[in-house]
Amino acid sequence: MIDSAALRARLAGVRDAVARAAGRAGRAPSSVRLIAVSKTFSAQHVRIAAEAGQMDFGESKVQDGLQKMADTSDLQLRWHFVGHLQSNKARKAAAFHSIHSIDEARLLNRIDVAAIAAGRGVDVLLQVDMAREVTKHGVLPEAVGALCDAARGCQAARLKGLMVLPPASADPEESRFYFSRLRLLRDELLSRGVAPPMLTELSMGMSHDFEIAIEEGATMVRVGSAIFGDRSYA
Ligand SMILES: *Cc1c(COP(=O)(O)O)cnc(C)c1O
Repeated sequence: MIDSAALRARLAGVRDAVARAAGRAGRAPSSVRLIAVSKTFSAQHVRIAAEAGQMDFGESKVQDGLQKMADTSDLQLRWHFVGHLQSNKARKAAAFHSIHSIDEARLLNRIDVAAIAAGRGVDVLLQVDMAREVTKHGVLPEAVGALCDAARGCQAARLKGLMVLPPASADPEESRFYFSRLRLLRDELLSRGVAPPMLTELSMGMSHDFEIAIEEGATMVRVGSAIFGDRSYA
């Protein structure tokens, strides 16, 4: 049995924390979209959060996300793909409302082709490897401009902004540097002439560091365990 009261209480607590962090940054709480990352949790968990008004959900595996979409198709939810996307899954991933993890032109083009074929638009964000971690997915900061250029040629994949996943650290303050660097990269791209509608979103911050991300300008935070509880990958 799911403890739905506890889930609702955690969701309310996260919403409060989002609003307080926005307030500290002099921003409206509505300028931050809370994405509830439901990976490893069930469609029933999604339903409980949806009944409490949560609209945006995130998944990191294509198949799991499609299954939960199907199981909650009676609700009007927005599904975000936040995990690493293999190019052979691009066609299926085009069923998501948005994809936060585009890191190469080939993948972007595959999403565009798939979305055109499906007759729908897909919002995309570029995942930036800000810490230059060789083990991490993402495009290096100096290559983001070229991907923005590639996005101008797309018809159904609509570039909306940037995403970062800082190196894992016990201290959330260590994420601040990467969040501010992503914001500065966005500003630099704007000053170099990238169209502002392509760079409106900054997807950054997870359960342990979303408040810092909001202080640094996040427009989307991806929060899983702080809403749904501890994950077991078993
Ligand atoms: C799992 C995941 C999250 C959420 O992580 P929590 O620590 O549970 O909040 C956010 N972003 C990505 C890319 C993820 O894979």
